[in-house]
Amino acid sequence: MLKATGLCEFLGFISLNCTSEPDAQPERAVIMMVFWGRGAQRLFWMRTYIFLIVFLGMLAMASNVVVGQTAPNQAQLEQMASRFAPTPLRVDTSALSPGDRQALVKLIEAARIVNDIFMEQYWSGDLALYQRLQSDHTPLGRARLHYFWINKGPWSDIDEYKAFLPGVPPRKLPGSNFYPEEMTKEDFEHWVSALTPEEQEQAKGFFTVIRRKAAQPKAKGFLGPPDKLQDIFIIVPYSEEYKEDLTRLAGLLKDAANETDNPSLKKFLSTRADAFLSNDYYESDMAWMDLDAPLDITLGPYETYNDEIFGYKAAFEAYISLRDDQESAKLSAFAKHLQEIEDNLPIDPQYRNPKLGAAAPIRVVDQIISAGDGAHGVQTAAYNLPSDERVVQQKGSKRVMLKNVQEAKFHSVLLPIARKTLSKSAMLDVNFESFFTHILAHELMHGLGPHQIKVGDRDTNPRKELKELYSAIEEAKADVTGLFALQYMMDHSKQMGLGNVLPSDEAAQRQLYVTFLASAFRSLRFGLNDAHGKGMAVQFNYLMDKGGFVPHGDGTFSVDMTKIKDAVRDLDHDLLTLEAEGNYAGAKKMLDELGVVRPILKRALDRLQDIPTDIEPVFVTADQLAPAATPAPTTRTSAKTTRSRRRSRSH
Ligand SMILES: [Zn+2]
Repeated sequence: MLKATGLCEFLGFISLNCTSEPDAQPERAVIMMVFWGRGAQRLFWMRTYIFLIVFLGMLAMASNVVVGQTAPNQAQLEQMASRFAPTPLRVDTSALSPGDRQALVKLIEAARIVNDIFMEQYWSGDLALYQRLQSDHTPLGRARLHYFWINKGPWSDIDEYKAFLPGVPPRKLPGSNFYPEEMTKEDFEHWVSALTPEEQEQAKGFFTVIRRKAAQPKAKGFLGPPDKLQDIFIIVPYSEEYKEDLTRLAGLLKDAANETDNPSLKKFLSTRADAFLSNDYYESDMAWMDLDAPLDITLGPYETYNDEIFGYKAAFEAYISLRDDQESAKLSAFAKHLQEIEDNLPIDPQYRNPKLGAAAPIRVVDQIISAGDGAHGVQTAAYNLPSDERVVQQKGSKRVMLKNVQEAKFHSVLLPIARKTLSKSAMLDVNFESFFTHILAHELMHGLGPHQIKVGDRDTNPRKELKELYSAIEEAKADVTGLFALQYMMDHSKQMGLGNVLPSDEAAQRQLYVTFLASAFRSLRFGLNDAHGKGMAVQFNYLMDKGGFVPHGDGTFSVDMTKIKDAVRDLDHDLLTLEAEGNYAGAKKMLDELGVVRPILKRALDRLQDIPTDIEPVFVTADQLAPAATPAPTTRTSAKTTRSRRRSRSH
């Protein structure tokens, strides 16, 4: 298997090579239009043209000689795709009411339309390219289509968006298809500055695209001034730009609203259907916050990651899921004890919060199908929405955790990591239950600990004081406080009445820490630029130094149960105190000393390079309930039979 770095270097060559492909010669096409057919000078220009063709051909050959590579071949594409382990997603929908089951079929069909809209938003040539790839039945064509479908475009998400197909821009366009391709950031700002305040708001809005106005035909021999910028660009609402698809989507959502018997789902679906046609999403975002139904639906334009120029424009995504009632019960049981945990945090009592605010709602669901922006590259494991600040101010935001996606990642990525990093006996204690329970605790713990603090006489908060260091410290705090809180609840399980939702015997305690150790390696693979990765390096090194994590001669690790609890408590004290005191210098010292990959850790991480980066979900239940007209181009090798059953997004 190709190493990630080797692959990036390899992909770096593709851009140079696009010119050697027959359909990637824009320069030549332009030259042809300008130079061809100008009467008397025609012969001269023809000679020049022939010279240029020869010259450019030599250039292209020269670059081939220098590079010695072309776009990835079939074997290379298959290697790239193998970084995503095909994993079936099955969900038992038998408990749904007949109405909900009818609604679900419509919603799966709606999700597939979301794929089309997203591809339209991603790149102007995306859908046409997808169609061409579908009609190429050669083995190379199949491999290209498969990796295209994983990425929903011709650029590899996990290789900094490098192109893996010939004849396309060498990298994903920063503005995707939200702005005219040749528009620069300065063009946009210059243009916007001349608009009225209302127009400016629309131009920068979530739900509009910027398009170039069709050029007005000029009289023959026109010598006037060139068009002013104000006359060149126009604002087009999504409801116009994607009218055809959005009308079909609205129809399917209305149908589903008529079928379901759950009032909160009915409300969300019908207001969202109206939003597609009116371009006003406010009411349906409010309805989404109130949604509490067996079918958990997120469908519409949401995240702005793909607008890398300004982060203004929302991409369409869909998550069609089933609420997990068992995990929801566990969550609400935990939620009842948050104040007691806050009152016992390992920190100077003056820093504890005597009255916690209402916790943000969390939903645990099993995903049936995801689509569009929610289904390319590394798969979303959890998300926080909505993005509309007006809604967030009134209703807060909601976190949705995709339990079966996390379970699929656990089996396809975490277990193989554990097998290479844990001692044989420790390996026996790794399980999904402990993994997921800790993730739940991590999310809840973001709400505990210092939030409003005083530095001298100043009222402030940890984020303001710790600045760019805050995310890594806060992620480490949520992890470690999560361990602390689970240990606290296990120790007081009887009094707290948690016997039914949280196993607390010795084995369960061991499983918690050992599974956490295995998951540390998974987070560390994200690298130190990622807040979770940096925060995890701090924890790993601290717990090693205190003897809680123990290295062995064969390069594996285990947990010392006699030391880990005190080590966790001490680290939690240090992290919480940094936040409580807004101690920037202290946070910097901690990250500089501990937020690093030491040689012993580097050796362990080096051994993980052949393990998949993520999963490629195969939507088995969705395809059974609503067979697709064109089956998704997933891998031809049968999906591995691992037990079936990702600011605002995590992976
Ligand atoms: Zn977090």
